[in-house]
Amino acid sequence: MTVHSLPEGLRIPTFADVRTAQSRIAGQAHRTPALTSRTADQRTGASLFFKAENLQRGGAFKFRGAYNAIAALDGDARSRGVLAFSSGNHAQAVAYAARLLGVASTIVMPTDAPAVKVAGTRGYGAKIVFYDRYEEDRLEVTRRVAAETGATIVPPFDHPDVIAGQGTAVLELIEEVGDLDIVLTPLGGGGLLAGSALAAKGLSPACRVIGVEPEAGNDGQQSMARGEIVTIPVPRSIADGALTTALGLHTFPIMREKVEAVVTVPDDDLIATVRFFAERMKIVVEPTGCLAASAVMSGHVECRGKRVGIVLSGGNVDLAALGTHLATT
Ligand SMILES: *Cc1c(COP(=O)(O)O)cnc(C)c1O
Repeated sequence: MTVHSLPEGLRIPTFADVRTAQSRIAGQAHRTPALTSRTADQRTGASLFFKAENLQRGGAFKFRGAYNAIAALDGDARSRGVLAFSSGNHAQAVAYAARLLGVASTIVMPTDAPAVKVAGTRGYGAKIVFYDRYEEDRLEVTRRVAAETGATIVPPFDHPDVIAGQGTAVLELIEEVGDLDIVLTPLGGGGLLAGSALAAKGLSPACRVIGVEPEAGNDGQQSMARGEIVTIPVPRSIADGALTTALGLHTFPIMREKVEAVVTVPDDDLIATVRFFAERMKIVVEPTGCLAASAVMSGHVECRGKRVGIVLSGGNVDLAALGTHLATT
């Protein structure tokens, strides 16, 4: 385990940046619905509002941050193209947003990325470069390709425009349903959580913001407890969108200031929550996308009597793999 200290001079985004992102993505990102379920409310004793980013373009909230970051580039940078490293949803988001903006994209992906995500990314016209998640450093591979092509790297979470874009989901949610007592989001590198915290505290200062990560990889929880970014080995969890090893230099300071807690959920609970959404609410939510919902519905966070916003962060699931998990759990 290694601990990094924070460098000076970062551009940390604010609530105003989330507002700017909202106007940049207007008419491009879907305004996804806020779903409710009487069964879920009865089970938890709370009023739950699910922000259905599984229905977002590209199948996850990541379209918001990617589009905002690429739209912010000047003409010269756009002409050189964009580059991203991702286990899947960010890749699809960058490829899709780049295509809409007329920008070429290259994606660096792990060899074990879910087939559906690889196919989706190719389908949006991106060039794909593969690397071994357990052997090679993805940042090094990405930097090498960037040096070769002159493309601008769009990071999956550690970038002010990406964070601001991700914050627009919770901004929309609170604008639609009104003040919330608690907002919970899945947590990988913290782009979604940090952006959501900017939005929630900006609109509704008393709102408590909670991040939820897979039990197998609780670097976020450890980092919050130690007050420094803690790096862990690559976790092995069904939550393939949250297999990050460390929080970002831009996301962590926002989390320290605005996030109340980070909690964890085991894979079995995620699968039970995937099943709930499919059987009861007739929607496909990927295991990573269930982290925040599972924390509430499996009883890891007490929400009785509260108005609770929950981000369902994505719906890109490999159905064959999921079928195996559902059959054996
Ligand atoms: C990327 C991703 C996350 C984690 O987001 P971060 O900004 O890295 O914390 C959660 N859920 C899904 C579906 C994702 O694609």
